[in-house]
Amino acid sequence: MQRPYNFSAGPATMPAEVLAQAADEMLDWPDASGKRCGMGVMEMSHRGKEFQSIYDRTEADLRELLAVPANFKILFMQGGGLAENAIVPLNLSALRAAQGGQGHVDFVLTGSWSEKSHKEAGKYCQTAVAASGKADGFTAIPAASSWQLSDQASYVHLCTNETINGIEFQTLPDLKALGSKAELVIDFSSHVASRPVDWSKVGLAFGGAQKNLGPAGVTLVVVREDLLGHALPVCPSAFDYKTVADNGSMYNTPPTYSIYMAGLVFQWLKRQGGVAAMEARNIAKAELLYEAIDASGFYINGVARNARSRMNIPFFLRNETLNDAFLAGAKAAGLLQLKGHKSVGGMRASIYNAMPLGGVQALVAYMREFERTHG
Ligand SMILES: *Cc1c(COP(=O)(O)O)cnc(C)c1O
Repeated sequence: MQRPYNFSAGPATMPAEVLAQAADEMLDWPDASGKRCGMGVMEMSHRGKEFQSIYDRTEADLRELLAVPANFKILFMQGGGLAENAIVPLNLSALRAAQGGQGHVDFVLTGSWSEKSHKEAGKYCQTAVAASGKADGFTAIPAASSWQLSDQASYVHLCTNETINGIEFQTLPDLKALGSKAELVIDFSSHVASRPVDWSKVGLAFGGAQKNLGPAGVTLVVVREDLLGHALPVCPSAFDYKTVADNGSMYNTPPTYSIYMAGLVFQWLKRQGGVAAMEARNIAKAELLYEAIDASGFYINGVARNARSRMNIPFFLRNETLNDAFLAGAKAAGLLQLKGHKSVGGMRASIYNAMPLGGVQALVAYMREFERTHG
């Protein structure tokens, strides 16, 4: 049976192999030696040896896939990317604040998600906008050399892949080289594990799982150890990174099933050749779709070429009265969830790790045929 291709921005398509394995293990989970334990993963205590073994393997596989250095902690939390917009400032905004004084944080605004993060952080600290792409309608990344970084900032927040606007940082800025003492915090929700991360430039990275890692419900935080232990007194204990780290992400009950599913995705990623292999495939997929858009006079993507996302590709029909027909035809052709985000309209194809090249080829073929019959 050929499943349709699902271009949803998140929750998003999962590898079929992973779903089949989860189905097989649903009622009776087998350990690494194949021995069944009589319980499904949802029914296990998070304190039991079965779930602990799932957790340990999941963490180790992720550390290997993302080449996370030993001095970084990997935390599996709840609340999603949006909760992290509060949890990060609650933990890190006071890093460089004077005793008892308010912390300062800089934001580079490149789209909807960094704007959201900026707004939320303002509840907990002094925020400043170091640069913004809003005047250009978020179609480019302001050059790092133009950022107005403040002296006292504890960290600089970036959203390294703007899921809605289709903008992606192709390299991370080196804050030290820019004369800043701040840590770099990145929201990598929608491109984590699609490309390597240069951890030498990063203090903390966070991301919800439901784009590239697995189902909704678990949020990944990777944080350098020396940044732990600086939370504001009002920070909820369950959201204090040090408490979470000291308890191996089990200060309270973690989202066990989502962690298990993410673990199956990590095993799948390793079978695919790891993050470097995924990156090569993601480049090929994105090039195919952008080339098809740029070569046509019918479709348009307005993002600067050096800032285009490999993961989320918004595009518009020049004749927007054809939008409904385009979407209906796509659905009939087995190409699902291509409608753009309500704030920007048009179309958006999210082509995360789990989207095969064949899915993008099918989309491009459909787009050409639609243009031929409606152009
Ligand atoms: C989806 C997304 C979020 C929000 O995640 P939730 O799990 O809905 O809170 C945050 N940042 C980015 C970049 C995202 O793509």
